[in-house]
This record gives sequence, structure tokens and C-alpha cells, in this order.
Amino acid sequence: MKNEENHNSKSRRSRQRDLILATLRGTKSHPTALELYEKVRGEMPRISLGTVYRNLKWLRERGEVLELDYGATFSRFDGNAANHYHFTCEGCGRVFDVAGPPAQSLERSVARDTGFRVLSHRLEFYGLCADCQ
Ligand SMILES: [Zn+2]
Ligand SMILES: [Zn+2]
Repeated sequence: MKNEENHNSKSRRSRQRDLILATLRGTKSHPTALELYEKVRGEMPRISLGTVYRNLKWLRERGEVLELDYGATFSRFDGNAANHYHFTCEGCGRVFDVAGPPAQSLERSVARDTGFRVLSHRLEFYGLCADCQ
């Protein structure tokens, strides 16, 4: 039955997407697509890396997840889509969330100094985490 097939493939797709999103939201490690694939595969052994990539793109386009761009080699993904800052450890390469509200005063001072209208900003912290110091 054609309808049934469509129904089944749709619900499998949404189950995959739900699992990917839940796994990403359940970790603070800002995984790469490959790392996320390895976690998700534990629950859903037949999922492919391509499926994980496609779903991450879909979720990013809808503002459900953030893609953190670290140059041409790879991206990390974040289940917390709210604006927040990151600290990258130059020793172990881990990426941590930085607590605290976004620096609205920074945007205001840039706006004041330039006369431009500031819509958003990016700020990255680098250094050594507690384990690596
Ligand atoms: Zn470290
Ligand atoms: Zn984050």
C-alpha cells in the first residue's frame, strides 16, 4: 500500500530527526556531525552519516540548532540555539558554553562610536580549560 509506505517513511524520518535533536540537546560537548552520528548510531544502528548531515542542515535552517563554524575543516553543532558565547580550549580542543548574558553594552558602544545600527555580534574566547592549565 502506497499510503502506508509514505506514512512509515515519514514517521521514520521524524523519529530520526527527534533523536538527533534530543541527542544534541542532551550534550554540552558541541559535537561535530561525525561525533553526533556515533552517539545516535548507538540508539538507531541503521542511521547513516548522510542522514545526520541532512537533518542537522534542516534543523539549522529552522533555527533549532546552531552551527559553529571553525573554518573549512569541520563545524560543531549546538542544541542551544539562543545567542551565547563559547570558550575553545587550545589544549584539548573542547568547546565550552560561557555563562552570562550577551554583551548588549558592547553593541551599544559600537553603535555609538560608528553611528551604525548593530543587529548582532560574534565573540569567541580562547585559552586553556581547567584540565589543561
Ligand atoms: Zn582543555
Ligand atoms: Zn554552546
